[in-house]
Amino acid sequence: MNKNIKQFSENTLVRTQRELNVLYEISCAMRTTLELKNILHIILTGVTSHTGLGYNRAALFLTNTRDRTLECKMAIGPESEEHATQVWKYIEECTHNLEDLIQANKIQQSISSSRLYNALKELQPPLTDEPANLLGSAYHKGIPWHILSDELQNFPEDTFLKIFRTKELLIMPLRIKDHINGLIVTDNIYTKKPITQEDIRIFSMLADQAALAIENSRLYEMVVQKSHTDSLTNLWNHGFFQEKLSEEIAEAQTTELPLSLAIIDIDNFKRLNDTYGHQAGDLILKELAELLKESSRDKDYVCRYGGEEFSIILIETNEQQSFDIAERLRKKIADHPFSVHPETLQKQQPQKESENINITVSIGLATYPDHAQTKESLIANADKAMYIAKFSGKDKTCLTEL
Ligand code: GH3
Ligand code: MG
Ligand code: MG
Repeated sequence: MNKNIKQFSENTLVRTQRELNVLYEISCAMRTTLELKNILHIILTGVTSHTGLGYNRAALFLTNTRDRTLECKMAIGPESEEHATQVWKYIEECTHNLEDLIQANKIQQSISSSRLYNALKELQPPLTDEPANLLGSAYHKGIPWHILSDELQNFPEDTFLKIFRTKELLIMPLRIKDHINGLIVTDNIYTKKPITQEDIRIFSMLADQAALAIENSRLYEMVVQKSHTDSLTNLWNHGFFQEKLSEEIAEAQTTELPLSLAIIDIDNFKRLNDTYGHQAGDLILKELAELLKESSRDKDYVCRYGGEEFSIILIETNEQQSFDIAERLRKKIADHPFSVHPETLQKQQPQKESENINITVSIGLATYPDHAQTKESLIANADKAMYIAKFSGKDKTCLTEL
């Protein structure tokens, strides 16, 4: 065999072997977890590490089908050439193995460019195919898009390119069956290594596996979320409430910050069901759940405790603060016009127009560690306080009496 041809075949063989190894290691790593954050980290480590595909920077966008936008979920890449040299030196000294790299959280911290991610996460490019929207256009193109500086000039106003400044980039769609669930954008801004057809081919194979792993993970997270959610009200369900309260008490113990629990019971709900029917009652529960959710802080957990009872885990909240929050909620509920729709009314009460009614609630409060040291006694104390509110005339907030 001609010496040159032999050398060429050997080089091709070595490269193919290396590529297969990269794909194998990344796919093995992706099978070890179903958590989306971990999956994305594995993908981007594989794309950027020099023992992986070796791109300088990578940003991963996933589609938000409800808002019809793309959202940046993770971005990896040094912030400057100097930083890039430091990172690569660190990686070289630390390990040569992709598997180790994927496992090493330290490297995640080192190579995640929080500045790049923080800048990109604010962007939400729409899924529209407009000349000024590079990522939207890439989504509609649906195939790998290798863009050189001449073509980049066609996007002078693109908000993504204003942050991800570059002269050459590759946008890889994450395709699953007949749809695209995201994009990975990469470049070689520091090494200036040109992107070849061969690079695109291997990256496409990785992207196919990545898209599948992301889809599985999203389905898994949806199932987990569903198993924690009450189907009527969409609030956290009783099981999740119990789990979360245990966790948050443990956290409060560590941080030595207080935590309060509110138990909220609708007053005379049986009468409302008897008057308007069970379906109308269900809609009131739904509307009240929305009101509780929108009136609560993001960090708190609003749950359906059971039946017409709700609970709120008030994080980092002392007794007085919990009382103020509960009173604000109680008054808001009492002032809110709840609507009863005619189609849900019982047959004996035919009515054309929907009717507004008012409901009230009784709220019991208990605070960790002042009133209770365990989850069980915290719930029991909040429950007791709620019954005191009932016995003292309803539409009231009561604190635990020691
Ligand atoms: P109190 O002021 O003492 O709390 O009186 P109440 O009528 O609210 O309390 P009671 O415990 O006597 O009745 C609770 C009612 O809540 C009875 C039950 O039918 C109703 N309820 C519980 N869960 C649901 C539900 O999912 N949908 C509807 N429509 N009603 C429910
Ligand atoms: Mg009740
Ligand atoms: Mg009740």
